[in-house]
Amino acid sequence: MKFISTRGKDVVDCAAAAITKGLANDGGLFVPEYFPDFSDKLETMVELDYAKIASMVIGSYLGEYNQEKLYNACVKAYSTFTENEPAPVVKIRDNTYITELFHGPTLAFKDVALTLLPYLMREGANILGIKEEILILVATSGDTGKAALEGFKNANGIKIMVFYPSEGVSDMQKLQMRTQEGNNVNVVAVKGNFDDCQTAVKNIFSSKQINAKLKENGVVFSSANSINFGRLVPQIAYYFSSYLSLVSSGEINLGDKINFVVPTGNFGNILAGYYAKRMGLPIDKLVCASNSNNVLTEFFANGTYDANREFYKTMSPSMDILISSNLERFIFELCDRDSTKTATIMQSLKSEGKYTISQSQLNLAEDIFFAGFCDEEECLDTINNVFEEDGYLLDTHTAVAFKVCQEFVDYTDNKNSTVVLSTASPYKFAQSVLYALEGKKTADAFKASIKLESLSAFEIPEQIKELKTKPVIFNNTIDRQDVEKSVIDFALKN
Ligand SMILES: *Cc1c(COP(=O)(O)O)cnc(C)c1O
Repeated sequence: MKFISTRGKDVVDCAAAAITKGLANDGGLFVPEYFPDFSDKLETMVELDYAKIASMVIGSYLGEYNQEKLYNACVKAYSTFTENEPAPVVKIRDNTYITELFHGPTLAFKDVALTLLPYLMREGANILGIKEEILILVATSGDTGKAALEGFKNANGIKIMVFYPSEGVSDMQKLQMRTQEGNNVNVVAVKGNFDDCQTAVKNIFSSKQINAKLKENGVVFSSANSINFGRLVPQIAYYFSSYLSLVSSGEINLGDKINFVVPTGNFGNILAGYYAKRMGLPIDKLVCASNSNNVLTEFFANGTYDANREFYKTMSPSMDILISSNLERFIFELCDRDSTKTATIMQSLKSEGKYTISQSQLNLAEDIFFAGFCDEEECLDTINNVFEEDGYLLDTHTAVAFKVCQEFVDYTDNKNSTVVLSTASPYKFAQSVLYALEGKKTADAFKASIKLESLSAFEIPEQIKELKTKPVIFNNTIDRQDVEKSVIDFALKN
């Protein structure tokens, strides 16, 4: 299958090329030439295990990969999750379910893709005969960084460098990254927010000069952010598995439509849901849930995407994003896959910080998406209410989604079953979650975890416990302007 850039100036022959490159040469994002159709396959997939479902979904885009090896790689990747199950579905209330995506090595949904991406990238490099070392640059709002570091640590022929906003991640997230082990990793805090990190990294990817310099030295860039198709494609699988699991447990009948509610930042997770819908999975609405950084809520309400606004630091930091990169892939669809139109819109985002789509495009978008947001107060209330009423402990990101889920059901009277995607363990945000339950602030994240465990029936994960005694390896903070130099230094270091 070919992959085309949303901006029209780059086409590659296969997924392996899209995955090893990460970003297209013209600054656009690679999208598949078409969406494989699974509508006739669903019935035969109901009783399959996760690795099998995942390898079928992923394999449908990755024809040049050996399918048996791909399946084995999925088995291996998902064996790092509790009970080999990356996406268990839990019933919360009538018609309302949660898919828990946080039982992997770093306790956030990013693990679902990042436990597999190293395989996809290495095998892709083999298929294409790429001899250069691959340097992966990551901008993170907290969770991608750690998940990518764990996935890629000690990988042959690959180095990884992660940038996170110095004051924009939770204590646990920061500690997870700063204690990272591995002989090919580097972690740097940047003064600024996630958008600053993401922009700096994207500029480096598309700089001809830097790319040429590294190539001379036998190094090429790639990305582990959701701008990389290799990050998105494993995420499509849990929309399928969630659906199939509701069929298999008799909660719905095959063919019934369901909704998904997704706590959204960079629009990667929910875009994977959109791709699943395009592949024939019976999805009615995709509900886009934002925190106080509600640029997407406004976009879906009035068709104007306007990033010129105050940036809020919230207790759901992985969603503190004003430039949602993956929206570009949906804009491309809204433009009927016209890359010239898409490029013009993205140029306007770059120069003005905003753009407006047409009324007919907005109508199309609203057919598929419902969008809402949840402020800090509502987030705390939701954690508290769901714990009291349902005995279920939500993390701060999933709470945002849960609140918007309720709003969606009240507002639209939609009667379909609805699945909320849970993206992180509450213990990654222990202080905020405890504050929601008790109304008291706790300075120490570990103390908060212990308290949280004693209040709830949910055990502290090992990954959190062991953080306490791990030595800090990275404590570097740099200015935005120095990101480029730090990348070149790391790239050229042996
Ligand atoms: C990354 C992340 C999100 C946002 O996902 P996107 O794909 O960026 O929209 C939500 N919640 C958590 C916990 C995350 O780590």
